Amino acid sequence: MNEVLIIGTVALDTIETPFGKVYKTLGGSATYASFAASFFSKPALISVVGNDFPKGHIKLMKRRVDLDGLKIVGKTFQWEGFYEYDMNEAKTRKTELNSLENFKVEVPKKYKSIKHVFLANIDPEQQLETLRQMNKPEFIVLDTMNFWINNKKNALMDVIKKVDVLLLNDGEARQLFNTLNLVNAASRALKLGPMAVIIKKGEHGALLFTKNRHFNAPGYPLEKIVDPTGCGDSFGGAFIGYIAKTKDLSEKNFRKAIVYGSVIASYNAEGFGLNRLMGIKLKDIEGRYKEFHDIREF
Ligand code: AMP
Repeated sequence: MNEVLIIGTVALDTIETPFGKVYKTLGGSATYASFAASFFSKPALISVVGNDFPKGHIKLMKRRVDLDGLKIVGKTFQWEGFYEYDMNEAKTRKTELNSLENFKVEVPKKYKSIKHVFLANIDPEQQLETLRQMNKPEFIVLDTMNFWINNKKNALMDVIKKVDVLLLNDGEARQLFNTLNLVNAASRALKLGPMAVIIKKGEHGALLFTKNRHFNAPGYPLEKIVDPTGCGDSFGGAFIGYIAKTKDLSEKNFRKAIVYGSVIASYNAEGFGLNRLMGIKLKDIEGRYKEFHDIREF
């Protein structure tokens, strides 16, 4: 039985960073999120790719992710982005929605009772439709990005009201709640319904806000960041993967899940695409998790 359902994009990404460029490499929010979740739980994925999507990618993903919810039609979603020396901010050159544009979500019957759902970055109307087709999930996490804040804000606000945890990066939180102050953005997000809001601050860590408490996870001090693409998605995937494994929705456990999210995201940034995540083992994850303890002890 799969333990986490992830809906999001599966993409061919063209990425340029100060350390190199890759063309049409395997990417997408659901791809990163499901790989990250697979270190802790069994993920199932809902998305769409085109007939141009390499069979090798499907084979590789199938080793870790249930792909019965992956449709193949038309042309694959493509994203092209670049980073300058501030590696915290991806700049989009091109977004080609292709088969994502007319993607009608159909949750396979065997996924409908999965208790943990990650609405990774995708059209908020497709996120809402996924929830409509599920049988009462127990825990829902939502991620998004500026593209959807700009284009589908109303639908996005509707999804926020239905989820338990909202993930945003700092820029998106400011944009969505029209404020420069992150504490203010988080408290406005909490008023919409989620029990927790997590604001990701790239290499500077992540902030957790709940009604009465606040936690600040440091970023892992990486000496070389090669490609941060997918760090937000892998953070989210690891977060929900760990929650699904432990089945503990306490604030204390959210803190641990955030540190696991930060660990996986830090590995992800060490290579282009999924290269680095494909090479790590549980002992690497636990090693860095222990270092996090040390970093924040005083
Ligand atoms: P991040 O974790 O924010 O770095 O996400 C990077 C991934 O998001 C890339 O692999 C892209 O394919 C994917 N992506 C880019 N734009 C969008 C979009 N508008 N909707 C969903 N996914 C996207």
